[in-house]
Amino acid sequence: RGLSPTVIVIGAGMSGISAAKTLSEAGIKDILILEATHRIGGRIKKTKFSGVFVEMGANWVEGVNGKEVNPIWTMANEIGLKSYRSELRNIASNVYKQSGGLYNESEAQKVVDSAEEFFNFSANVSVSLLRNGVEDISILTAERLRHKVPSTPIEKALEYFRYDSQQGEPPRLTSLRNTAPLPTFADFGDDIYFVADSRGYESVVHYVAKEFLTTNKAGEIKDPRLMLNKVVTEIHYSGKGIIVKSEDGGVYKAEYVMVSTSIGVLQTDLISFVPPLPDWKLLALDQFDLSVYTKIFIKFPYKFWSTGNGTEFFVYAHERRGYYTNWQQLENEYPGANLLLVTLTDDESRRIEQQSDSKTKSEIMEVLRNMFGDDIPEATDILVPRWWSDRFYKGCFSNWPVGLTRHRFNQIKSPVDRVYFTGEHTSEKYFGYVHGAYLAGIDSANSLINCVKKKVCNPKDDQVFQ
Ligand code: FAD
Repeated sequence: RGLSPTVIVIGAGMSGISAAKTLSEAGIKDILILEATHRIGGRIKKTKFSGVFVEMGANWVEGVNGKEVNPIWTMANEIGLKSYRSELRNIASNVYKQSGGLYNESEAQKVVDSAEEFFNFSANVSVSLLRNGVEDISILTAERLRHKVPSTPIEKALEYFRYDSQQGEPPRLTSLRNTAPLPTFADFGDDIYFVADSRGYESVVHYVAKEFLTTNKAGEIKDPRLMLNKVVTEIHYSGKGIIVKSEDGGVYKAEYVMVSTSIGVLQTDLISFVPPLPDWKLLALDQFDLSVYTKIFIKFPYKFWSTGNGTEFFVYAHERRGYYTNWQQLENEYPGANLLLVTLTDDESRRIEQQSDSKTKSEIMEVLRNMFGDDIPEATDILVPRWWSDRFYKGCFSNWPVGLTRHRFNQIKSPVDRVYFTGEHTSEKYFGYVHGAYLAGIDSANSLINCVKKKVCNPKDDQVFQ
């Protein structure tokens, strides 16, 4: 007889819940989910801000209206989640100069067209790299090949709008081969839908959880197999089984463990593995990137920006790349709430996570005065999420850095003995996204099921020790 539970799942974000559900449906019902925080959902997290619910983490269902149906879109529809299609194509009429006023639309359109032409070129280069077995290059290298390296504020702003807001990192870091074209859009469609629903985007995680966990009369999950506020700090593993220890002194034994924390957490020492993970595994984990993407919501007493068709997104072209570049007005999603959303990424995100919100607010007010003039009201409220500083996340979504090989990527998701791994960063096609987390949970659980039921464990091919 084996140990009980059979499997401990660490983390109750989308991938951990999806893995646990897959195990449960395959008859492995003796599971225990240990989650560090007081809630399920992980990086899908709503919060109340100035009277409405907004999303601090994932906001869009990305990849909709294509040849295949995104599984998250199916769930969103079944729940009746309120979402709004984002129209990104009118951006040329909404580019603000550093010192105010809009760029001439036809001038901006030329930059947009040139970026589009480069985008198509780079997708072709990417496919031919793969076909000809040539090593990976960065998006920046592809820009150099085409003599299309952005240099003016407007070129840099529109490049940022296209790449950094998708990957969370600049083109010089991002792998061309693994991001152009992005399988998310190639498979599921180009459209993205912004979720604005008082139940939160996290209700898709609840939806999956409720398919296998017990709920009470009020519909809340109450199942002894889900333990919240359990910060896992140690995982002891051997051929005989697993011992997991939590910060509050808890000790849990199992046959297997499935680790679903972000790759950022695995790059820190929050969880000690005993014995330490092998070098090949550490090298693979440490090579992948977890980008930082900060969504700052700001509330005003009244609107001073345009609303209506074609105005949702606007861009600020500052000489400092990525300085409060991406803006979205949320009148459609939150009518009458007078909300703006500005996103920062990478170093700008890390910078503002370390300063006070009032300093960030004053920087934002200065930028808005540059764009709209001095005669605008002061913001009344601001929300600055801090994913990077949070020891349970350390960032937002993973990005494939230039040069990381497929072999190395496979090692990220490879099990080590009885320790299995899942999470958005283990989805080869859809890393970084909610659907990637969901599908990765199913994949990782299936490898574990093969091991438990068919005794096909740790395929040796995945574990080349270099
Ligand atoms: P997580 O959600 O991180 O789940 C891991 C769980 O492990 C967490 O609940 C965590 O609390 C827990 N944990 C961590 N350490 C421990 C420990 N020591 N012990 C126990 N538990 C632990 N995706 C999209 O598709 N569309 C978007 O628009 C989008 N925008 C995003 C914007 C932001 C700001 C962020 C942060 C993410 C965004 N994403 C988006 C990405 C998406 O949210 C993630 O890919 C997905 O939610 C990750 O799920 P996961 O289960 O892999 O990881």
